[in-house]
Amino acid sequence: MSERPRPLVAGNWKMNGLRPSVDVLRGIASGVSAELRDRADLLVCPPATLVHEFADAARGSAVKIGGQDCHAKGAGAYTGDISAEMLADAGAQFVIVGHSERRQYHHESDADVHAKALAARRAGLVAIVCVGETREEREAGKVLEVVSAQLRGSVPKDSTAAELVVAYEPVWAIGTGLTPTVGDVAEVHALIRAELGKILGPAEQNQVRILYGGSVKPANAVELLRVPDVDGALVGGASLAAADFLGIASAYTS
Ligand code: PEP
Repeated sequence: MSERPRPLVAGNWKMNGLRPSVDVLRGIASGVSAELRDRADLLVCPPATLVHEFADAARGSAVKIGGQDCHAKGAGAYTGDISAEMLADAGAQFVIVGHSERRQYHHESDADVHAKALAARRAGLVAIVCVGETREEREAGKVLEVVSAQLRGSVPKDSTAAELVVAYEPVWAIGTGLTPTVGDVAEVHALIRAELGKILGPAEQNQVRILYGGSVKPANAVELLRVPDVDGALVGGASLAAADFLGIASAYTS
C-alpha cells in the first residue's frame, strides 16, 4: 500500500478581510503546534488584496498562502482579473480554481477551470480544483456522474500530485451548516480517487490530496477528516477565526 498524502487544511476567506485581518493570520501562524506542523500543511487563501501582506506575515511559519481564483492568461487586456503569475509574484503558493461560487456567479465551465489549472502550473502554483454536486443533482441521484464529469473536464491529464489538489465540496453543504454523512463523503472520495487513476495514471492517483469542503467546523472535523480518502479540508466560514481554523486542524493531532 502506498503512503498516505500529507494532509492539507486550507482556509478560503472568500470576499472577507481587510488589512487589520492580518492579525487573524498571525494568530493562526502562532497557534500551530510543533506536532501539527509535523503532521499537516496549513493554507490560508485571503482575498487577492491581502495575498502580499499575508505572505509577508506568514513567512517562516507553517502557514502557506494562496489565491481564490486566477485568470487563464498570464497577462493582457482583462480588466479586473488577476493572473496566476501575479498571485505567485505576491507570494502565493496555491490557488483555488472552480469553486462553486465561481462556477455559479461567473458561469465558469469545466473548460475554464481546466485552463486555470494549467495557468496555475505555468506560474508554479498548486491548483486546488473544486468539484461538487448541487442539491438537485444529489436528489436526482446524479452525484457520482456529476463529480466524474467535472473531474474529467477540469483536471489537466498530465498533472502531478505536487501541482494538484482536488476539493470535493457539495454545493448544498457550503455555508449551510449541513454536511453529507461520512458514508456519502467516503463514497464520493473513493470515486474521485478512482477517477484520478483514470485521468492521471496509477503513479499519481494515490498521492493527490482530496479535501472535503462544506460546513467543516471544529465540532465535526475529527469525524470528517477520518473518512478514508479524505486528505484534509477546505474551510470557508470557520477559517475566519484563528481558534476555529486551528480547532479543525487539530483533528490531526488528537
Ligand atoms: C467553501 O466555500 O469552500 C466552504 C467550504 O465554505 P464553508 O466552510 O463556509 O461551508
